[in-house]
Amino acid sequence: MSKTVAIIGAGASGLVAAITAARAGAKVKVYEKNNKIGKKILATGNGRCNITNQTITKGNYHGDNPSFVNPAINHFNTSTCRAFFSELGIEMTMGQNGRLYPKSLQSSSVVDLLAYECRRLGVEFLLETKIENIIKTEDGFSPQTKGRSQKAEKILICTGGPAMPTVGGCDSGYELAMNFNHTIKPVHPSLVQLVCSENLKNISGVKIQGDIEVFIDKELKINRQGDILFTNYGISGSAVLDISRIASHALLHQRDVRLKIDLFSDYSKEQLKNLLKKRLKFSNAKSVSLWLNGFINSKLALYFEKSLKIKEADKLNPKDIVTLVHFLKNMTLHVEDTRGFKSAEVTAGGINTKEINSQTLESKLQKGLFFAGEVLDIDGDCGGYNLHWAWASGYLAGSSM
Ligand SMILES: Cc1cc2nc3c(=O)[nH]c(=O)nc-3n(C[C@H](O)[C@H](O)[C@H](O)COP(=O)(O)OP(=O)(O)OC[C@H]3O[C@@H](n4cnc5c(N)ncnc54)[C@H](O)[C@@H]3O)c2cc1C
Repeated sequence: MSKTVAIIGAGASGLVAAITAARAGAKVKVYEKNNKIGKKILATGNGRCNITNQTITKGNYHGDNPSFVNPAINHFNTSTCRAFFSELGIEMTMGQNGRLYPKSLQSSSVVDLLAYECRRLGVEFLLETKIENIIKTEDGFSPQTKGRSQKAEKILICTGGPAMPTVGGCDSGYELAMNFNHTIKPVHPSLVQLVCSENLKNISGVKIQGDIEVFIDKELKINRQGDILFTNYGISGSAVLDISRIASHALLHQRDVRLKIDLFSDYSKEQLKNLLKKRLKFSNAKSVSLWLNGFINSKLALYFEKSLKIKEADKLNPKDIVTLVHFLKNMTLHVEDTRGFKSAEVTAGGINTKEINSQTLESKLQKGLFFAGEVLDIDGDCGGYNLHWAWASGYLAGSSM
């Protein structure tokens, strides 16, 4: 007789686990609290779904024990991932920094083809069915939904984390795991926008290509280059998402988080000083902001004019130019918060990986209980690493079950 497997959560990891277990001959039931499957996948990559990355290494993952990912990502690497999706009908195309997308550039094609394969293999979906509790029985488990109890020999918790509740994010997986004595590493948002204490309303909407450095308790921790978008509340953009994990983790521990933004990373201080001095020759009685206009965004020009005592470009002396260069290359912002789970792409923290066998993803505390995806204390960098972890861990858990 085939094994019965219950999968809680029809997200990225749950769908791949369902396919893998069903291909191995298991009878699979997937419980999903939403009214459709793969809702978060649909939102990924701005609707284009950055499925994976050309280069996947342990270094792209975080948590108390990043090496935990090794068996899963070695078993299911970029080429296994491409082959798995190609078999479903999805070819991939490469974007910036090795990011791989479906050739259709539609996340819906990923969900549609995963769903088709599940149905072809006889996987049963129970939608709008939230699992409230799991009871251990003599011969397996009984997942409990409102008023109903089900049966399964093996069970997989792959309920994701609380990031982005509008597409299903919640912390119910932690509660289910805690009933089996699992512990949870403190969670915090990652790949998230940052709230700054400075008033940036006047430069809201300005997007630059810059260099951003993160100082935790005055110590430089990380720097990234890329898009930085100033907003009413603080900053956003790809470079900000990249550094947000470190900032968010430090805030969780009440540490001081400061950012230094270099608006002119392609000029050295000396080059910028010389350029500004040259521009002074043509200042023609302009205000500082008008003199800077055409060189930097006009909103930024006004912002920096306010920081200087002198308002007329003609009156700027060499010391003022040095001050201005300092502002442009060392714009300092204090981070007081993140935009929270409601806006975050990923949850950092989660179920303690020490309590799980990394080779099989089975609980060390309860035989027959498995975990996959973001619900675990593993999160990845921006660039396809989070979905890759979901697919790879779903694949490993599905084959182990
Ligand atoms: C806007 C956005 C864009 C993103 N873009 C990318 C990207 O391009 N590339 C990338 O690599 N990553 C991206 N991510 C991250 C990626 O989507 C997640 O890391 C990944 O989906 C996690 O997969 P999962 O299976 O662990 O969880 P999920 O995909 O979140 O699935 C968990 C499922 O479990 C269900 N569930 C929860 N509790 C219960 C319960 N008690 N009973 C029944 N069902 C339950 C939820 O409704 C959900 O459907 C993005 C995330 C967001 C929010």
